[in-house]
Amino acid sequence: MSSLLQAIAAILPARQVITDPLRRLAYGTDASFYRLTPEVVAVVESEAEVQALLQVARAQRRPLTFRAAGTSLSGQAVTDSVLALIGEGFASCEISPDAATVRVGPGIIGGEVNYRLAPFGRKIGPDPASINACKIGGIAANNASGMCCGTSQNSYRTLVGMRVILADGTLLDTEDAISVDSFRRTHAGLLLELEQLGAATRADTTLAARIRHKYQIKNTTGYSLNALVDFDDPIDILSHLMIGSEGTLGFIARITYQTVVEDPCKASALVFFPDIASACQAVIRLKKEPVSAVELLDRPALRSVQDKPGLPPVMRELGLDAAALLIEVRSQTPAALQLRIDAALAAIKGIATVEAPAFSTDPDICEMYWKVRKGTFPSVGAMRRTGTTVIIEDVAFPIESLAAATLDLQELLRRHGYLEGIIFGHALEGNLHFVFTQDFSAAAEVERYARFMDEVCTLVIDKYDGSLKAEHGTGRNMAPFVEKEWGRQATDLMRRIKQLFDPEQLLNPGVILNDDPHAHLLHLKPMPAAEELVDRCIECGFCEPLCPSHRLTLSPRQRIVSWRELSSRAANGESSADVEADFAYYGLDTCAGCGLCSTACPVGIDTGELTRLLRGRGMGSASHTVAKLIADHFGKVATLSRVGLSVGHAASSVLGQGLVVRLSGGSWKRGMPLAAKLPAPYRGGGDPVVYFPACGGRIFGANTPDEAALPEVVMDLLVRAGYAPRLPEGFDKLCCGQMLASKGMAEEADGMAAAVTQALLKAADNGQGGYYPVIMDASTCSVRMQKVLAGRLPLFDFHEFAHDALLPRLRLVRKSGPVALHINCSVRRSASDAKLRKVLEACVETIVEPPGVTCCGFGGDRGFVVPELNAHALRKVHDALPANCCEGVSTNRTCEIGLTAETGRPYRSIAYLLEECSREDAPMKC
Ligand SMILES: Cc1cc2nc3c(=O)[nH]c(=O)nc-3n(C[C@H](O)[C@H](O)[C@H](O)COP(=O)(O)OP(=O)(O)OC[C@H]3O[C@@H](n4cnc5c(N)ncnc54)[C@H](O)[C@@H]3O)c2cc1C
Ligand code: SF4
Ligand code: SF4
Repeated sequence: MSSLLQAIAAILPARQVITDPLRRLAYGTDASFYRLTPEVVAVVESEAEVQALLQVARAQRRPLTFRAAGTSLSGQAVTDSVLALIGEGFASCEISPDAATVRVGPGIIGGEVNYRLAPFGRKIGPDPASINACKIGGIAANNASGMCCGTSQNSYRTLVGMRVILADGTLLDTEDAISVDSFRRTHAGLLLELEQLGAATRADTTLAARIRHKYQIKNTTGYSLNALVDFDDPIDILSHLMIGSEGTLGFIARITYQTVVEDPCKASALVFFPDIASACQAVIRLKKEPVSAVELLDRPALRSVQDKPGLPPVMRELGLDAAALLIEVRSQTPAALQLRIDAALAAIKGIATVEAPAFSTDPDICEMYWKVRKGTFPSVGAMRRTGTTVIIEDVAFPIESLAAATLDLQELLRRHGYLEGIIFGHALEGNLHFVFTQDFSAAAEVERYARFMDEVCTLVIDKYDGSLKAEHGTGRNMAPFVEKEWGRQATDLMRRIKQLFDPEQLLNPGVILNDDPHAHLLHLKPMPAAEELVDRCIECGFCEPLCPSHRLTLSPRQRIVSWRELSSRAANGESSADVEADFAYYGLDTCAGCGLCSTACPVGIDTGELTRLLRGRGMGSASHTVAKLIADHFGKVATLSRVGLSVGHAASSVLGQGLVVRLSGGSWKRGMPLAAKLPAPYRGGGDPVVYFPACGGRIFGANTPDEAALPEVVMDLLVRAGYAPRLPEGFDKLCCGQMLASKGMAEEADGMAAAVTQALLKAADNGQGGYYPVIMDASTCSVRMQKVLAGRLPLFDFHEFAHDALLPRLRLVRKSGPVALHINCSVRRSASDAKLRKVLEACVETIVEPPGVTCCGFGGDRGFVVPELNAHALRKVHDALPANCCEGVSTNRTCEIGLTAETGRPYRSIAYLLEECSREDAPMKC
């Protein structure tokens, strides 16, 4: 073990030190097109750990790079040295009583802060498009911004205070007078220099004017020099310099933001113009109006999405030079909103448009307009040639030059052969993103990129005096061009600042300032073809927060990164011995197959499909024989499973539950259900429905002996609501095959689904005798069979049917609650969560939905096989459930088993609660 690793192992618990080649490789990527493999990944959970790690870095003379969510686009979150990964210990969020400010740790996702602020009608100012994935540390350290925040609501402008740890390990809390006093004493030299730098800069009126001018538009090139002209107290200068410093000046341990109002009333207009000039003329006029966002899209950007379903047909008929503006206005009341709409329309009156401009307040129409804007970047990503990378650049021009600059950029893209290139951006701020695809595998292609970037810099700086990076941060990508943009004097100021804060060059060296003029062409990320299912992945990291195995083993992005590496090595005949075995566990075994990653992925990738494919490939013929046996004799398998459960309970009663849990390696769960009983057929009258009890509820019965098993409960409910449930013939021997599908045994699984289909069709008289809805009671299986039966029979997950057909027929007595709700991955993916909430709301007054919990990680059998996945996925539930919350509901029996075991509270199907509440006199159990 190297002395660096020894030193880190001495200060951090083993689980926080990642040294295996596979995960180091996986952490070697962020959303940019650079890649560096860290020597070690050290997860930091507290300020003390950050201080200790900094001390190790100093003693070992090894650079250190902080990483929040790793969604950066300019290469500032990768290193080949120590990667300090910000852990959940930094995910704090404290809202002031009036919600005017919020104190947040660097490890909390921006979207989660907004979720917590939403009930107060507030949000944080910075609004990057990546807000549901990126974290406060990265938002502040990149000074990220987005469509609405402009230059007035970014981190720099809304900063109230900060806890910061400097490279020497000193902690400064700018909101704590004692800390500030102490810091003024211990760091008098640093503060004096900052004060003098500020005074000298302000005294140099030309430089000061230049700096002020540069920040009239968005700018994240270099350090936030405006701190030197906006403030004279060196503590203020210091904290504002930290904004946008990309981890090169110190560690932001906490930040207090002034929050901003989140207007409830919104309206959008998608206005098409015959040419860029007309669109940009409208932008200049709209800049003076109270509009919250104006997004510009050039013709290639519109073309990239125009064929998607549901978009305005006029898009396909636009001329070659056309452009569009997506305009949004917001307000507190509908009346005030109308005034703003009128003002915006009046402002652009007289400017040539393709159709008369009109605003809509209809959420569906607004969503369709925003689909146009949000679909552009992914569409280029999705259409790119395998092996190429998608690059999104981020420049800003003075708004008066926007039209000419856009035309120049279009010409530049064409001239360099980037024919797929598109341009869109936040027009009010003169901020344009241009997206193109690039192959970095050939030297000639790298040279083409280098020539193109040189010309981009000349255009942006020499012709328009714009910003080379408006929002995404300088990183490695623009570091060689900082001096070109800012000039010698201002860049020397930046060098002086870096030297003051980090004299030993320990913090993220090479980022923001880099003397190598070719630094932007080094460490380019390979994007080798791996598997068609995932080749479109742009490694953005949007999928990570939803993944139950993220930060336990690998995230979806990291699975793809790893598989790309393994595939590339295989193609080149290189050995993968160092990572292959680990991939089996980190990559495959601990993927729950939940598919939640696909719901956040801009290019629609379900990494679970990759997992299933690879699991299937890894199966030998013996496994397929066993699978076939299971498929052919499922009735016996279910019976054996029920016997196993009874034996387990017998053992528990003798040995104690804890011991059986331990002896089984976690496979036997705390609160394991009893063996289920099969439901008896119903022979009475009523409206016909077909009910197929999924095998989970036929094997795993009730939580306690005095409860009925799920199929009996569902049957009772259906009958109570006037239905006559039909059980398909031989249902007890059938299974939809989901279990085998998740193991990659698609063929055997499809055979099982086909048998279920036949039984359902028969029970429903082949759909000939009238309307026969089919109901299933396990969401994962329902979603699978919905796909199989599409167009043949209407199949409802139980809660969907309960919402549509049972609620109107049942008389419910609401309980007080609270009851915990777990919305599992299948419900999320089928977007039926609103119905589930409505059914629960009809049953209880208080519902607790723990934030930050997505999939429970049980994944069919994963909870039995790799119980650590279930425990990790549910780690946030414990603290979120109040003590008086004594039960929970969900819609999948295996999820409920894992939730019961992890929380110590019984989780059951929503059917149980509905059944209890539709009895006349049901008291709440606790
Ligand atoms: C598809 C896509 C769209 C995007 N859209 C936008 C957009 O609209 N606007 C925008 O501004 N950006 C955008 N980004 C870029 C990126 O998501 C943001 O800049 C984001 O704020 C980065 O946050 P992060 O948590 O991923 O930080 P990371 O990438 O992990 O880190 C960013 C930088 O901050 C440093 N850092 C992190 N935490 C700390 C800390 N506690 N103390 C000191 N330094 C720290 C890191 O060292 C690194 O230099 C987009 C990215 C993608 C992939
Ligand atoms: S799978 Fe999708 S969301 Fe995840 S990193 Fe790749 S492109 Fe981004
Ligand atoms: S399928 Fe689920 S567990 Fe697997 S990578 Fe996607 S989100 Fe993670």
